[in-house]
Amino acid sequence: MEQELLSLQDEARENLQQLAEAGQLEEFRIRYLGRKGLCSTIMRELSTVPPEERPRVGQLANTIKAEIEKLFDEKKALLESTGPSGAQGAGSIDLSLPGRYPERGRLHPVTQIMNEVCSIFEALGFSVAEGPDVEHDHYNFEALNIPAHHPARDMHDTFYVSEAILLRTHTSPMQARIMESQQPPLRVIAPGKVYRCDSDITHTPMFHQVEGFLVDTKVSFADLKGILTVFTRKMFGKDLALRFRPSFFPFTEPSAEVDIACVICGGSGCRVCKQTGWLEILGAGMIDPEVFKMVGYDPEIYSGFAFGLGIERIAMLRYGINDIRLYYENDLRFLSQF
Ligand SMILES: [Zn+2]
Repeated sequence: MEQELLSLQDEARENLQQLAEAGQLEEFRIRYLGRKGLCSTIMRELSTVPPEERPRVGQLANTIKAEIEKLFDEKKALLESTGPSGAQGAGSIDLSLPGRYPERGRLHPVTQIMNEVCSIFEALGFSVAEGPDVEHDHYNFEALNIPAHHPARDMHDTFYVSEAILLRTHTSPMQARIMESQQPPLRVIAPGKVYRCDSDITHTPMFHQVEGFLVDTKVSFADLKGILTVFTRKMFGKDLALRFRPSFFPFTEPSAEVDIACVICGGSGCRVCKQTGWLEILGAGMIDPEVFKMVGYDPEIYSGFAFGLGIERIAMLRYGINDIRLYYENDLRFLSQF
């Protein structure tokens, strides 16, 4: 009996040493420590031991059972802390584990709207041009009929790099840059980042604009209206009414701000359109003859129109979002919805 107990202890210890996975622990526990396991079986056989030896053998049996339980607990803690791959040695792989999928990225909603705007104008025959974000004062202001000390400069909240260099406050400098180097007819859009020292729920210090202009002989305001009507209908997908309100920009004459019928309420008045039924979406006008003179075009021969629109503004209207800052907080819960 004593011999049986001692060999049971050796066998259990050896088996436990060979265990390599947490999954095999339960099998071991049932075999040795379970209700019908080897330890219990031996305990039951104690009744066959002569009464005078029973206390000694019984104590030995209890000690051995406790020893096996202790070894088992130690092994269990070890296997569970290192996990299956650790227990099998570095570099081994558990093929039954589920895979990890790479998360799919998407284009930023502002990029999506920008691409959409560009493709609408490209379909109308416009080419796309990009220019520098860090711009000369000359192209940003002077060449657009905004000389030094002109009050219109106040509206721009400019970030200056030096006296003559700044972060462009609009994409309009591309008008001057392209007209200076090319001859009409021209049909160009210039998308890009622009910068103004301004930040609240409808303004961010950096935002995106698309500038568009067309120069040829006999271009009229009717052509401008036609192009913008096609654009707004493609963009917002409805037969939206369009409204031109007289406005002022130094580089266009006459100038207009363009409204569309509110895309939320359809014109009956709501919170987004401040009960007016209209939403302002862009500024436009006929290119000022002074701008043509500065790039060497003869305003008696050529005429043209220009327009500028804010991409974030269009994205906000398209998606019904009223805080522009959401686009730049990089919260994936927000961005992954587009
Ligand atoms: Zn409305």
